[in-house]
Amino acid sequence: MLDIILHPNQILRNKSQKVANVLTDKIQKLIPEMMATMDAKHGVGLAAPQIGQNIRLFVISYKDHNLAIINPEITKKSILKEWDEEGCLSIPNRYGQVKRHKSVTLKYLNQNGQTEILKASGLLARIIQHEIDHLDGILFIDLAKK
Ligand code: ZN
Repeated sequence: MLDIILHPNQILRNKSQKVANVLTDKIQKLIPEMMATMDAKHGVGLAAPQIGQNIRLFVISYKDHNLAIINPEITKKSILKEWDEEGCLSIPNRYGQVKRHKSVTLKYLNQNGQTEILKASGLLARIIQHEIDHLDGILFIDLAKK
């Protein structure tokens, strides 16, 4: 299992770099390790900076599926936003209300290096926005109401 970096740590604050479009063996091997770590910690998402790598990659767990998202770009987002509670594996035992777009459309590379488009709403859209923030050095506590 991979070690999870806890706040405060500069790695969590760096802007992460894009992953090369042809996925290396190192990346291919890292993805299942990140998924196993997320599952073991009962998280719904884990971004590469949280395991010490400033690269644009995260894994999410949604309805019993694990998904790897590489070089995500939000191509569309709803004007409508909603508040809900969030937590983070890097900030144990703290929760807060965060306002997020209700739905987003995402373009990304999957773990086979293929481009995919995903339209997400509700919890899935929230997880995606939380994880993309990690790639830009933003934590939910920066946005939370209290
Ligand atoms: Zn987080």
